[in-house]
Amino acid sequence: MRTAHYPRSRIVCHVGIGGFESAADRLLWTLDARAYIGRDELTKNHVAECHCGQVKITCRGEPYPVFMCNCTLCQRRTGSPVHIGAWWPMADVTIEGETKAFTRTTGEQGRPATFNFCPECGTSIWWGGQTEGDHPLVGYYGIAGGCFADPEFPPPTHSVFERTKHPWISAPQGTPCFAATFTDPAVMEEIRAKMRKPI
Ligand SMILES: [Zn+2]
Ligand SMILES: [Zn+2]
Repeated sequence: MRTAHYPRSRIVCHVGIGGFESAADRLLWTLDARAYIGRDELTKNHVAECHCGQVKITCRGEPYPVFMCNCTLCQRRTGSPVHIGAWWPMADVTIEGETKAFTRTTGEQGRPATFNFCPECGTSIWWGGQTEGDHPLVGYYGIAGGCFADPEFPPPTHSVFERTKHPWISAPQGTPCFAATFTDPAVMEEIRAKMRKPI
């Protein structure tokens, strides 16, 4: 037993902060500690809030996919040239606070989409949550990446609607980019295969 080496107070102190001499050290420590205390306590939470703080969304583990959307509807909705949408299994998401829904019925996406916003401050903060259908994102919530206000937040995995991208914005090098949304079945399957199961 490694009990003496990994008291809980030290684990809590180090998770997500660092304090290791190398990435390899950190990995070994993490694997060791995970075997000792179980994975739940080492799982990082990402917490999103609306502008006024009335809505708080706690997400367990890491998101996938993380879309960077350059469509003009997201530009108007967010008031920003680019929107970040991060997806988690619904079971890993806790939404607190009151939200109102707005459904856009037309537009570049070609299908209705409902967005939930804080009625106090207007922040558009979550969407998705469908439980029926065969789209890869059924069973998942999308959360606005900017609402985590975290410079360490995972970077986008895909960039969509690049045809209306502001020219000074670019996705991280190597990110798959699409002129509009992705309709290629091979891409859909690739995303589906990488979607994370609930923790
Ligand atoms: Zn608010
Ligand atoms: Zn969009």
